[in-house]
Amino acid sequence: MIGRRIPRYTKLIVALGIALGTAALVILYREYRLVTEQMAVTPAAEHEALVRTGFGWAAGGSLLALGLCAIVVWLFARRQTARIDELRAEAEKLRDADFGEPLSQTGDDALGQLGAVFNDMRDRLRSTTVSRDYMDRILSGMNEAIVVTSAHGRVKRINRATTELLGYAEDELLGMSIDYIVDTSKSATLIDDFTSGVPREAFFESKFGESIPVSYTCSLVEDESKESTDRIYAAQNITERRRAEQRIRYLARIDALTKVPNRMQFQHLLQRAIARARRSNQPLCLLYVDIDHFKEINDTFGHLAGDATLETVAERLSAALPEKSVIGRLAGDEFAVVVPNLGAQGEDRNATNDLARSLLDRLADPFFVQGHEVFMTASMGIALYPKDAPNVIDLIRNADAALYSAKKAGGNVFKYYKPAMNEAAVERLMTKSRLKRAFERDELLVHYQPKYNIETGEVFGAEALVRWELPDRGLILPSDFIPIAEETNLIIEIGEWVLDKVCEDFRLWQRSASSPGRVSVNLSLKQLRQVNFTKRIGAILRSHEVSPTSLELEITETTLMENPERTVKLLDQLYALGLHLAIDDFGTGYSSLSALQQFPISTLKIDKSFVRDVATNPDDATIIGTIVQMGRNLNMDVVAEGVEDEHQLNFLQRLECTYVQGLLFGDPMSAENYLELLLAQADGTDSYRALFA
Ligand code: C2E
Ligand code: MG
Ligand code: MG
Repeated sequence: MIGRRIPRYTKLIVALGIALGTAALVILYREYRLVTEQMAVTPAAEHEALVRTGFGWAAGGSLLALGLCAIVVWLFARRQTARIDELRAEAEKLRDADFGEPLSQTGDDALGQLGAVFNDMRDRLRSTTVSRDYMDRILSGMNEAIVVTSAHGRVKRINRATTELLGYAEDELLGMSIDYIVDTSKSATLIDDFTSGVPREAFFESKFGESIPVSYTCSLVEDESKESTDRIYAAQNITERRRAEQRIRYLARIDALTKVPNRMQFQHLLQRAIARARRSNQPLCLLYVDIDHFKEINDTFGHLAGDATLETVAERLSAALPEKSVIGRLAGDEFAVVVPNLGAQGEDRNATNDLARSLLDRLADPFFVQGHEVFMTASMGIALYPKDAPNVIDLIRNADAALYSAKKAGGNVFKYYKPAMNEAAVERLMTKSRLKRAFERDELLVHYQPKYNIETGEVFGAEALVRWELPDRGLILPSDFIPIAEETNLIIEIGEWVLDKVCEDFRLWQRSASSPGRVSVNLSLKQLRQVNFTKRIGAILRSHEVSPTSLELEITETTLMENPERTVKLLDQLYALGLHLAIDDFGTGYSSLSALQQFPISTLKIDKSFVRDVATNPDDATIIGTIVQMGRNLNMDVVAEGVEDEHQLNFLQRLECTYVQGLLFGDPMSAENYLELLLAQADGTDSYRALFA
C-alpha cells in the first residue's frame, strides 16, 4: 500500500520541483529582461537600484529553486530509506521463519530488482519450509517408530513414536548405533531388506531394559542422484499382538472350561507319547472316559451345574492319575487319558485294572453344586498301544468302541477294547441310514406289554413298544435304534406313526373286546418340542375316533424336567384334551416332589432298575417303598416296570403298588395276541391271573 503510493508521490514531487524550478528560471529571465529594458530608458543613477532589485529577484528565484531541489532530494531519499527499511523488516521476519506478505513490486531500479529477488527467495524458502514442517508433522504423527540411519547404522533422525517406544530422549538416540536399541539376547540385528518389503520381527530394548517385540520394515532414503544410502526403519510395537497370539494359541489347545488340552492338542500329545513309547519299546494305555447320563445333570440342574461337573471330572482325573499321564477333553462330557508304561500283560494288566477302577470310584464320589448333591458315575473304554492299535486315530477309535460297550453294560464300568467292538460301531453307523429306509418300507411294528392290576390280576391296559423287524435279523429292540432316531428328526415321524398305529389297533380291539384298557405310548423329547404338538395328537385321535381318555402318554422324568415351564403348559393342554399322563423311568432323574406337583400327572412308573434288585438291595427296596408311598399321597397310580419274578411281584403286592408290568407275564406281544389276552380274560381263561392269587 505504502509501496504502491511512493512512485506516484515521487513523480508528483519531481514534476512539481521541475515546474517550480522552471517558473523560477522564467521569472529570473523576465526580471533580467525587465531590468535590461528599464536600464536602457532609466538614468544611470538609478541603474544600481535596478540591478539590486534584479539581483534580489535572481537570488530569491535561485534560493527557491535550490529549496525545491532539496525538498525533492529529501523526499527521494526518504522513499528509498522506506523501501530499504521494508526490505530489512521482511528479511528479519524471514529469519524468524515468518513469511509475511510479499514485498510490493518497486520498479526496475536496483532496489526494485532486489525486492523481486527477495520475493522469489521468500516464495521458494516458504515452499521448502512448509513441506519440511509438513514432513515433520507426518513423522511425529506416525504411530510407527521411525529411525533413519546412515549406511553404517548411525541414527540420524527419529520421530516421537521412537522416543515414546524406547524411553530415550531424541538427543540420546541421535548418533547412536541402531544395534544399541536391538535386544540382541532375543533377536539378531535388524536386516536391511529394502527390496522385498516383507515385515520382519525383532526385539528392541528400551532405556529401562524392557524387551519390546516389534515388526519392522527397512527402506532406502532415495535422493535425486540416487546415491543416498540412508536407511529408514519403520517399527511397530507388537506386544499386544504377541499376547493375543499366545492367548489364541492357548485357547486353540486348551479347553477353556476344564483347562485341560482339547481334542486337537490331546491328539498331538498322544502322537508324541506313541512316538516315545515306540522308541523305548514300552506299552501305553489310552483311557476314554464319559460321564453317565451327563445330559440329565445338565437338564436337571442347569448348564452351570453341568459345567461344574465337567470341571470336577477334570480335577479328579488330574489328581488321581500317575505322573506323566496326559489328560484331555475330547468333546462334551468325553475325556481321555494317556498313561505311559501301562500294558496288557501280567502285572501291567493288574495295574491298569486298578487304575481304571480307582478313577471310576473317585469320579463316583458325590459332590455339591449350588447346594444340590450330585451323584455322577462314568464309564471307561481302554485301548492299549501297540496291542490294539499302532496310531492315534485307531487307538482313539478303539478306546471309543470299548467305551460304547461299557455304556451298554450299564455304565460305571470299564471295558478293554476287543476287535468285535469295532464291528458294532460300524454297524451303528449303518443303522442310521437303514432305519430311515426301514421306516419308509414299513418295517417297524408295535408290540404291547400288558399292565396288570396288582390286586385283581386283571389287565388294566398295555404299553405300546416299537420294534424294528429286519428280514435277516429278526426283531431289533428300541434301545438299539431309538437313540439313533433321536439323533435325527426321524423320532418325530416314528412317534407319530406309533400313535397312529396304536389308534388303529385300539379301534380293532374295541370291535371285539368290551374294554381294551388304557394304552400308553412313549413320547420323546423331540416330539414334545414340536410346535402344534397337541393339535397333531388331537388330529390323529379324531381321525381314528379314539377317545383321548383311552390313551396315556409316557414321558420320562428327564424329558419332563428339560424345560419345566414350557412342559407344564404343554401337559396342561394335553390333559385338557382328556389324555392321561405318566412319568416313565421314575427315580432315574433328579426331579423333586415339589417339581412333580406342578405337572398334571396321574401315573408314576418306577424304573425297572429298582425293581430288578429289590430282593437283594435294601436301598432299592426303600426307594420303591418311598415312591409307592409318594404316589399314594399325591393320588397317583404307580406302575412297577420290569417285574421278572414272583419275589418282585410279592414285594410289590406287600407295598400295595397299583400296577405291574414285566417279563414275568411274557414278552411284549403283537396287537392280535393282546386281543386274544383280552378275550381270554373276559372268558376267565387267562393264564396269568393265578400269579396274583
Ligand atoms: P420304557 O418305556 O421304560 O419301556 C419299558 C422297557 O422295559 C421296554 O423295553 C420293555 O420291553 C422292557 N421290559 C419290560 N419288562 C421287562 C422286564 O421284566 N425285564 C426287563 N429287563 N425289561 C423289561 P424296550 O421295548 O426295549 O424299550 C426300551 C425303551 O425304548 C422304552 O423304555 C422306551 O423308553 C423306548 N421306546 C419304546 N417304544 C418307544 C416309542 O414308540 N417311542 C419312543 N419315543 N420311545 C420308545
Ligand atoms: Mg415306557
Ligand atoms: Mg420305563
